Amino acid sequence: MKVLFLDLKAQYKSIRPGIDRAIKEVLESQHFVLGPKLEAFEKEFAKYLGVKYSVGVASGTDGLILSLLSLGIGKGDEVITPANSFVATTAAVVAVGAKPVLVDCDKDTYQIDIKKAEKKITKKTKAILPVHLYGAPCEIDKLKKLVKKHKLFLVEDSAQAHGTTLNGKKVGTFGDLAVFSFYPGKNLGAYGDGGAIVTNNKKLYEKLLKLRNHGQGKKYFHQIHGINSRLDEIQAAVLREKLRHLPVWNRKKNQLAQKYKESFRGYKMQKIISGGKSNYYVFVIEVGNRDKLRRYLFNNGIDTLIHYPIPIHLQKAYNFLGYKKKDFPVAEKVAKRILSIPIYPELTIKQQEYIIEKLKLFTL
Ligand SMILES: *Cc1c(COP(=O)(O)O)cnc(C)c1O
Repeated sequence: MKVLFLDLKAQYKSIRPGIDRAIKEVLESQHFVLGPKLEAFEKEFAKYLGVKYSVGVASGTDGLILSLLSLGIGKGDEVITPANSFVATTAAVVAVGAKPVLVDCDKDTYQIDIKKAEKKITKKTKAILPVHLYGAPCEIDKLKKLVKKHKLFLVEDSAQAHGTTLNGKKVGTFGDLAVFSFYPGKNLGAYGDGGAIVTNNKKLYEKLLKLRNHGQGKKYFHQIHGINSRLDEIQAAVLREKLRHLPVWNRKKNQLAQKYKESFRGYKMQKIISGGKSNYYVFVIEVGNRDKLRRYLFNNGIDTLIHYPIPIHLQKAYNFLGYKKKDFPVAEKVAKRILSIPIYPELTIKQQEYIIEKLKLFTL
């Protein structure tokens, strides 16, 4: 049997008429940038999350950069963020000229360690930029208290966490700002790059509308320095169509995750914090002989990935930050042991049973 890590073709097949119609409408309108599809999607996405405003941008990475810019964060400022994320989280801080201050993660949840984060707060700290890793919520309620106490901004990297909740409240609604990615492989994925910034703060919202559109208020009246980072109409049309399916897709992923959890007694799996509900962007297991397991699964037709094999502080591009090996021992250890196994709504029961069977045989 062959099991892909992700099967976007199967997803497309399951929603094809709606997607084709949505794209055709854009083609027929020949309105490609800042049009009615984006406006509608922004409203629908904000409503889905339970937040006042949403701003569509060209990618999750741009969303992070624009968020930091909108808060006035730049040279001389520090932003606290986890060492074990996708590189874009740290890269965005570097992009605005601020200094990323990295923090280790918890050994069971893999989320940013809040006690260690608090110790890193200095006079230069302007914001905390946590990540809801693998689609599971980080301790965002506790972080909210922490930023209040120290008068900092809170920006949620929710790039992986569309629909994730903590105590029934969607993540992305806790911080001053939150950023989502619509990279094709995310739980809500476009047919290209895309992202959104969400907020309840009207001033930030209005500033972000300008920042993503050359700093314009009215056309050709450039009030602030901005960039070109807009979610285009074709992507917005696709996302509107997919957003309707997201609750069902997330539910299906949850069912698959529960089945994995019941089946793998011998494996360590990502712990979800109390009151939290993951959208299971990826399903992570932790094993000592990870590379051997990965080869074994591959030889049995099962694709896996590692999110992420090298922590950010050990990446060549970020050597200049001055970190070294053993600075974040938990993140370093976990990076050698984690493995993401297939989990997507289109995964069939047979395929999942096959994965479970193979994994059980490996433990024996
Ligand atoms: C995907 C991702 C991003 C970047 O999003 P893009 O849309 O690919 O730019 C940022 N942070 C995290 C945690 C991500 O997983």
